[in-house]
Amino acid sequence: MAEVPEVETIVRDLRAAVVGRPIAGAQVLLPDAVRFPAPPEFEAMVAGRVVLAAERRAKHILMPLEGGLTLAVHFMLWGTLLLAPAARRRAPETLIVFALDRDEDLRLLDKLGYARAALGTAGEVAERLDLASLGPDALDLSFTPEVLAERLARRRGALKAVLLNQKVLAGLGNRDADESMWLAGIDPRRAPVSLAPDEIARLHGAIGEVLREGLELRGTQADLFGRPGQARHRRNVFERTGQPCPRCGTPIAHLRITGRNTHFCPHCQR
Ligand SMILES: [Zn+2]
Repeated sequence: MAEVPEVETIVRDLRAAVVGRPIAGAQVLLPDAVRFPAPPEFEAMVAGRVVLAAERRAKHILMPLEGGLTLAVHFMLWGTLLLAPAARRRAPETLIVFALDRDEDLRLLDKLGYARAALGTAGEVAERLDLASLGPDALDLSFTPEVLAERLARRRGALKAVLLNQKVLAGLGNRDADESMWLAGIDPRRAPVSLAPDEIARLHGAIGEVLREGLELRGTQADLFGRPGQARHRRNVFERTGQPCPRCGTPIAHLRITGRNTHFCPHCQR
């Protein structure tokens, strides 16, 4: 599942292996995979431009290109990018192929077909993807317990739903939110206003630990070079309904909070 550790892993790989190289051309295999502009225009506009950088904003990958354009990619649930020899057979889940130099391709893949790319000026991309409304990034050094307390203040609804709201805090996906609340020992149904300062500090520490551990293990998916990440088995509660809590042995409970699958220990998450 593509959450921030997986997206950040790919962004770092892009910096190492793609930034500085030209995109010779693009081929859109699934028209729906391009949010804007129209696929033929997308293919024409991206061709011949050098990739200048790779950045992450929440789960968006932003690649500024030569000539003032930005290529944006979002993996949704299961998407990824793969750098492969151009001659290698394309997987059926290939949505877009960017031809690079040195006979290599950058491929946008998604077995569900939900991953999306977009292209425009930096301002246009920021506006159409509503990047200005995103909250502080959970991996940013400026994200402190005080910032979390301030972001949670006056927010209504269950803590889980508030943590997933990217306008409150950017960078926490469904899996990492469940794992963070388990690590902090906090019930996902709590109202944010009910959290004491020590609980907010614990939650802040847990969010950082879950994200950084996922990143150190290079996520749960394949990286840009197709090598599997090592974080796959590091789950304590997510999708472990009915299995014993690693801390207290109580069966992990499942419920839906604003439509999102939520997993927690009913005994040690208070
Ligand atoms: Zn427990």
